[in-house]
Parts: sequence; C-alpha cells; structure tokens
Amino acid sequence: MTTLTAPQPIPEVREFLKKSHKLLIDGRRVDAKSGETFEVFDPSSNSVVAHAPKGGKEDIDAAVKAARKAFEDGPWRKITASERGKLIWKLADLIEKHTEEFAQLESLDNGKPVGVARVADVPLTVDHFRYYAGLATKIHGETIPISVPYAPEMQFLDYTLREPMGVVGQIIPWNFPLLMAAWKMGVALAAGNCVVLKPAEQTPLSALRLADLFQEAGFPDGVVNIVTGYPDAGAALAEHPDVDKVAFTGSTEVGRKIVQASSGNLKRITLELGGKSPSIVFPDADLETAALGVSNAIFFNHGQCCCAGSRLLVHKKVYGELVDRVAEQAKKIRLGPGMHPDTDMGPLVSLEQQSRVMDYIQSGRSEGAVVTAGGEKPDGDLDSGYYVAPTVFDKVNTGMRIVQEEIFGPVVCASPFEDLDDVIAQGNDNPYGLAASVWTRDINKAHKTAAGLKAGTVWVNCHNIFDAAAPFGGYKQSGYGREMGVHALEMYTQVKNVIVQLD
Ligand code: NAP
Ligand code: MG
Repeated sequence: MTTLTAPQPIPEVREFLKKSHKLLIDGRRVDAKSGETFEVFDPSSNSVVAHAPKGGKEDIDAAVKAARKAFEDGPWRKITASERGKLIWKLADLIEKHTEEFAQLESLDNGKPVGVARVADVPLTVDHFRYYAGLATKIHGETIPISVPYAPEMQFLDYTLREPMGVVGQIIPWNFPLLMAAWKMGVALAAGNCVVLKPAEQTPLSALRLADLFQEAGFPDGVVNIVTGYPDAGAALAEHPDVDKVAFTGSTEVGRKIVQASSGNLKRITLELGGKSPSIVFPDADLETAALGVSNAIFFNHGQCCCAGSRLLVHKKVYGELVDRVAEQAKKIRLGPGMHPDTDMGPLVSLEQQSRVMDYIQSGRSEGAVVTAGGEKPDGDLDSGYYVAPTVFDKVNTGMRIVQEEIFGPVVCASPFEDLDDVIAQGNDNPYGLAASVWTRDINKAHKTAAGLKAGTVWVNCHNIFDAAAPFGGYKQSGYGREMGVHALEMYTQVKNVIVQLD
C-alpha cells in the first residue's frame, strides 16, 4: 500500500460523530443519569472519534421500567402481529437507505474494511430484520387431541398459545455491532417482546444510530431501549429482577457470570459464546479453493468471529502443501485502516484485544509452535493502530493454549490428521462446539464428518455462510439456544396450554 491515508467519512457520518449522543429510554433521548460519557476510538489510529453516554445501573433500571410499562400497558401487545411486522420492515428500509453511513460507522468503530461492512454487515442486517418482519405473523400455537384416561366421557379442546417472554435484556459484543443488534432485536420484537439493548463499550456507534431509526420508524415508546455503557450496565441488566430473559453474545467468562446473575429471578437465558472451530481439509479437496476458503475462515473480520476457523486440520498427505498455501495467503493480506479502499484486513478492535492476541502468539512460540506467517505487530505506518499480522502456526499440539483457547484474532493453528476417525476425534477435542467446515469432494466423507462433529453449524466446502433463515448456536461450552431462523422464536416465546371442557 503506497498511502495509508484513508478517505474522510461522508458528511452524514462526520455530523453524527460530532453529536452529543443520548441513550434511548421510554421513547426519549436522554443523557446517562450520571451525566458521564466515554470515549470511542478509531482502532486504526488510536484516536477518539466520538463520545457515548455512559449508562449504568440507574439507566438500566429506567430502561427496564419503560420496557415493562410498554409491555404491560402500552399499545405494543394490542397492535396486530402484522403491524409489528410492518414496523420492523420499515426499520429495515431505513437501515438500507443509510447503508453507506452504517458501513462507515462500523468501519470507524470496529476497524473492519468499509467494503466488507457495505456488502456483508449492513445487507445481512437488513435481510435479518426483513426475515423476522415476515415471521411476526407466523407465530402460532397448535391444537392437540387429548384423551384424558380418567375422564373418558368428557370432551376437551386443548390448544397452545405462543406468547412473548416480556422484557428482554440483550447484551452484544463488538465484532459485528450492527448485525449482532439485528440478530438479537429482530426476533425479540417480532415475537412481541420489549427490549433493553446494551452494546459493547468498544463499539456503541451503530446502536446509537439505530436508536434514531427505531424512533423514525415509529416504534411505540419503551418497546426498544438502548443503553450504552460499561460492564456494570450489562451486569445490572443480567441480574435485574424485572427482566424475564437475557440474551448474551460474548466471552465464555462473562457467559458464566450471566448464568449466575440470572439465578435471582430464574430468568431465561440464551448464550452465544466462544468457539475454536476446526476447518478440516481432506486430500481429495480442490486444494486451491480449500486454501483460500480456510484462509478466509480464519482471517475474515480479522479472526474476530466466534465461528472463526481457528484450528486447521489437514490430512497428512496434503498437509505441507496446504499449510504453505495458507501461509502465502496470509502474507498477501493487505493491512490498513478499514476506511482505506485497498485494505483487506483492518486493525483489531482495541488495544486490549491486540495485547491479548499478541500474548497468545508469544505463548504459542514459548510452547514450541512454529510461526510460518505473521506473528508480529506491523510497524511503520501502522504503528499507531491495533494491528496484528495474519499468523499461521505449525507444529502445534492439542495441549497448547493456542489450540485449546479462543484467541479471537487472526491466528490459525495447523495440525495433520490420519483418517476420518482421527479428524473427528481431533475436531471434538475442545470445550467449544460452535462450528466447523469440511473441505472435500467426497460426499460420504462430507456427511460422515458433519455427523461426527459436535458443532452447532457444519459448513461443507464453505465457511462463514449465514442466512437469517438458518439457525446458529453452540454445542458444549459454546452456549445455550439458537439464534436465527424459526428456531430463535422458541427462545423468545413461551408456550401456554389451554384446556377447555366442552359440554
Ligand atoms: P465480553 O466482556 O464478554 O463482552 C461482551 C458484552 O458483555 C459486552 O457488551 C460487555 O460490556 C458485556 N459485559 C461485560 N461484563 C459483563 C457482565 N459482568 N455482565 C453482563 N455483561 C457484561 O467480551 P470482551 O471483553 O469484549 O472480549 C473478550 C473475549 O471474549 C474476546 O477475546 C473473545 O475471546 C470473546 N468474545 C467472543 C465473542 C463472540 O462472538 N462469541 C464476541 C466478543 C468477544 P463491555 O463492552 O462494556 O465490557
Ligand atoms: Mg469485557
């Protein structure tokens, strides 16, 4: 890259960044009760680009109260499912209209290439809201023929109702700030819940912009509340006695805290936690396609994906060749500011994340793994951003921390396998079970591997393919429940059974 000076954001984004941002509580834009704000950084330059309101416990209390009032007494439960769907659809239209603005905000806030946000994050968000807009009118119960053994002479009508949970707290991470808000809010609103959203402190901007659009779309007061802030805000939401359900995406460590915090009122929880997903390459795969595919599996979004293909398992026959190709791909990736049009990979989201990833790289080296690409922070022009070069580790073993733990950065660990049984055993030799990809042209191997892996998603000859209709979630310590598709509706509704005795 000859110049690293990224173009200026469009005027709408520049104006937005300068604004005095407010929380959204009960249909009004308000400062945090403390009056405090926090700095929002551009990770490519370590410079402050905006200030966000620092909501805390009191603001969460106010938001939960507003959501409760909207749920119990507001118009939300009285309007038809079709009206709910129309509002969500209108929101999707508004987001689509502001695609460029959202793409640039995501890039500035998270560091991701603006071109990626433009074709992936924002369109997936729009699609997601539209999918649930359509589903709002398709949530229904069933009639069940019952034959009560001790009352054979009586007749009954038994039916179920699928009702919303009520007030839902949603805590999201920084890797796909806008899309994670959509994954959480689309289904919750379609099912008739009221929401309090707490975005990650590193990336509050797209949620604050989304708050404007919820208001513009005309959602009734209190149905959607957005409280930016630090972990104390998330913790207050997770333990709040008047929250019926909490949905969380983030680290396993905080996931455990959510489980504990939920015990006070036994609120329902869904958790989407980490992963250490294997990309598995059989010797019959098209190696060129597989090398590119498994590289994208780990390096997409700078490895900051819960389903990143961070363990590369390659059949011993093609191991050397495949791993060399992946190292070549890694070396070709152009690092730079997300806003620069030539950038393939931006900085990591924060200084903290850069340090965590560099610590893992150091730990891998000291445990004896060999770096065949990357392994360092780039210097020169990129010195002030939170960059880490795409890194490939060879000669790893399953005991190493870099193989067992989620790094959440552009670091892949390669190891060879012998045969189908061996690769299934290696693939499952991890506390996580979020996703996996299998690269082969042999249909039997593809299906047998998919069946053997303990993972919530298995991709065959692809990785990181998402659709609003396809369920996503984890086996083992990758979480509870599913997001997306009709499956997510079950997480946001509860079943009431009604038994009527007929004369
Ligand atoms: P994190 O702490 O789990 O943050 C996720 C969300 O939880 C944020 O909104 C965070 O708020 C909030 N939070 C933090 N402490 C909380 C608490 N005690 N109760 C309720 N909510 C709380 O993740 P992180 O510190 O940003 O990243 C650390 C590691 O987590 C990463 O390196 C990665 O391994 C993993 N991670 C996984 C995912 C995923 O998609 N599965 C996403 C992000 C991170 P604050 O932002 O204010 O802390
Ligand atoms: Mg944290």
